[in-house]
Amino acid sequence: MNMHSPLNATVRNDIELRHVTVRYGWRLALEDVSFDVPHGSFCGIIGPNGSGKTTLIRTVLGLIEPVSGNVLVFGRDPSELGAERSRIGYVPQHAGIDFTFPLRVIDAVMTGLYGKRGPFRKHVSDHRGAALAALKRVEMDTLAKRPISELSGGQRQRLLIARALVHEPTLLILDEPTSALDHRAGEGLYEWLHRLNDLDGITVLLVSHDMGVVSRYVDTIACLNTRLVAHGRPSEVITGGTLESMYGCGAVLFGHGEMPHMVVEESPHRNDEGHGP
Ligand code: ADP
Ligand code: MG
Repeated sequence: MNMHSPLNATVRNDIELRHVTVRYGWRLALEDVSFDVPHGSFCGIIGPNGSGKTTLIRTVLGLIEPVSGNVLVFGRDPSELGAERSRIGYVPQHAGIDFTFPLRVIDAVMTGLYGKRGPFRKHVSDHRGAALAALKRVEMDTLAKRPISELSGGQRQRLLIARALVHEPTLLILDEPTSALDHRAGEGLYEWLHRLNDLDGITVLLVSHDMGVVSRYVDTIACLNTRLVAHGRPSEVITGGTLESMYGCGAVLFGHGEMPHMVVEESPHRNDEGHGP
């Protein structure tokens, strides 16, 4: 953490949303959403397709302006973060690494330093050193020279994390990072995120469909369906009522360790992004 920042002494929430409403033209994407992401916490966001999860993240990143309400990131308006923006690591929903491309692991990680997302750029004099340090944090430094096409599913996820860590962010935001990976590899990713949160104190905000798995790792979970349906500890918020409000259909909860396991009946509209609530 940058101890010279006067903000860090007083700001305990990395993200604060207050009554945030976002529209795309006539379409309401977020309505009156308020919640905090405390510094050092691991927060999950779940919700059906089209429930506003990506919109929420893009609003936090300052890429979308709410029509009403306030967003603060590190205590500031996201559009005024300036150099502090490099404290955010971001893994977008379609993270855009073509694993068949003839690229070495270290080069793929370095693309995180000079990608298209200009605002995330920070001057780093030693690109290779920064990329190697990021790879080391996910125990991939010994694979630095390997072609990315040779990586296993688990190693691919760690590469995505390493690329997001290359700026040494204090806040890591991931939008459905497992969607391009097979289900089994997904769990490994959560283990690594848990490690980064627990050992390195990085704040993690994770959007996921995988409610059961996410619930095992996060401190708090926000259930979104345009509005914030529920927010709190997983065991408190994952209830039949919450799922009914999110998915609009009967859900059956089974006891499964501490966390309930859910079965939702398929509804024809669930995967149709064009159908809001
Ligand atoms: P999620 O990530 O939960 O699937 P999104 O935030 O992508 O949801 O979308 C929320 C709603 O806003 C959906 O109804 C979607 O169709 C709509 N939407 C998303 N992006 C745009 C856009 N660029 N223009 C118009 N509507 C959009
Ligand atoms: Mg999305």
